[in-house]
Amino acid sequence: MGTALLQRPGSPSRPTDFQFSEAKLLLEQGRFAIQAGDLKEVRYPRKNVAFLELKSGETVEINYPNIRGLLQAELGSFNEKISFFERAMGRGIWPIAIFLVMTLLVILSIWFWLLPFIAFRAADAFPKEQEIELGNTLYTQYMASEKVDSAGSAMLNEYARQMQFPGDYPLHFTLVQSETVNAFALPGGHIVVYSGILKGMKHEGQLAALLAHEASHVVQRHSIKSMMRELAGSIVLNLVLGDAGAMTGTLASQAEGFRSLSYSRSLETEADLKGLEILRNNSIDPKGMTDLLLQLNEAGGGAHPPEFLSTHPLPESRIEQLQEAISTGGAMRSDTLNPTLFQQLKSKAASAF
Ligand SMILES: [Zn+2]
Repeated sequence: MGTALLQRPGSPSRPTDFQFSEAKLLLEQGRFAIQAGDLKEVRYPRKNVAFLELKSGETVEINYPNIRGLLQAELGSFNEKISFFERAMGRGIWPIAIFLVMTLLVILSIWFWLLPFIAFRAADAFPKEQEIELGNTLYTQYMASEKVDSAGSAMLNEYARQMQFPGDYPLHFTLVQSETVNAFALPGGHIVVYSGILKGMKHEGQLAALLAHEASHVVQRHSIKSMMRELAGSIVLNLVLGDAGAMTGTLASQAEGFRSLSYSRSLETEADLKGLEILRNNSIDPKGMTDLLLQLNEAGGGAHPPEFLSTHPLPESRIEQLQEAISTGGAMRSDTLNPTLFQQLKSKAASAF
């Protein structure tokens, strides 16, 4: 035999009094109920269940021999039923805020640390021969819809042969006749220069800088690294399964992805600095690199910003970093580059329009 007494504070009416013998406690969100076979005062439609809706400040007093056992049993299952979030809600805003911040931190660290780490490892594991093969496939695919200037490309390759590039990738330069102000490097060694970017150049150092920058993207395997970064999830799976062939397929199916691929700022800066190194090792004035970026930056002010900038983001800091690297390394000018060849290439670019 027991009694439950619901006391509503400040209420003039007498406390609600329930009487029962065999009892069961039921806990639900925001209320709890006493279920008993012989509940005397049944106030709610459910048979033999009296719901006590407790509002803030209300208390209930239950006199029943085994009330502690009943309560513990029901609390156990109650805790399992409600989610972590709901319990957190009950404790106020702080646990939720902390939970959200922690979740955000975990996601951010996965995104900015773990995924690049895995992606770069995957890029390291990607065989060079397959990288070159992939580049050739993409090159054929892209060039099918471009006006490749064969004679101009031959001159561009001759121009590039004045310089020595690091690594052992088979670098191959292509001149495409197009107003587009752009240049890009494919994985494995293909470097494509649009006549639109060549036309805006003032001196031969800018072209050398462009080739050095793009060659650095190839040598540092930036395409593969960036694509791996974007595909980290499925690539990891393929690596785990040890199926490099499937990986090439996955990458090749990303043909459009490779084209619009934009490198991260850190990869761009790496290409700038490695490009500077190439210029210096060839005794070419590194100022060509800043002149190139300033040229593109100026072109960026018009109605048609160079496509180069959409795949090679150009924050102010990139030019500043370059200028600093140049000032510490010292400038030089030599006769490495043949100015006549540059002028010939430029007039080739200009004559197409
Ligand atoms: Zn770049």
